[in-house]
Amino acid sequence: MELLEEYIRKNGAVKEGNVLKVDSFLNHQMDVKLFAAMGREWKRLFADAPINKILTIEASGIGIACVVAEAFDVPVVFAKKAQSINIDGAVYAAKVQSFTHKRVYDVIVSKKFLSPDDHILVIDDFLANGCAVNGLLDIIEESGATLEGVGIAIEKGFQEGGKLLRERGVRLESLAIVDAMDAATGSLTFRR
Ligand code: 5GP
Repeated sequence: MELLEEYIRKNGAVKEGNVLKVDSFLNHQMDVKLFAAMGREWKRLFADAPINKILTIEASGIGIACVVAEAFDVPVVFAKKAQSINIDGAVYAAKVQSFTHKRVYDVIVSKKFLSPDDHILVIDDFLANGCAVNGLLDIIEESGATLEGVGIAIEKGFQEGGKLLRERGVRLESLAIVDAMDAATGSLTFRR
């Protein structure tokens, strides 16, 4: 998506450790007009899918997912990071290895909000190694809901998450794919 690539080129910063900083428009300060354009693009890309719910993960996916939910006119659910999993069986749970914080945490979704009747579009800001998305896919599988696809704002194509999802046959639509980036020069190469 040209507009998103333009934003990344103009406002993104490449940091050491394969981190792309986009906090001026994507995941700290948020450009809601850009999010609305992204929502319209995913709506176009998934026009044939019977999506009735958006699922994302706390925290940085939530803003984008809310605007996308508006474009699809469906509710949005976010998986919460949990200190400890309650064992009364009221939640679906998965373990996620955090890319940015380098630790494993549990995420939960109440059983009230996902059921076998649901057709889910997963939305997140970044795809790196795929741990966050895989956690959400585990939760969807446990709930019996149908995964319609995954929409990612920025996929880092030099990390393995996207490749693994596509190999599994997951319908993945990343709006910008960065194939290479260099912290020393700040250079970025997008997939065409
Ligand atoms: P994964 O689970 O795919 O390894 O990493 C995805 C998660 O880590 C995203 O939810 C995002 O919050 C965070 N993340 C991964 N790579 C980056 C990055 O380059 N920049 C930022 N800001 N967040 C990232």
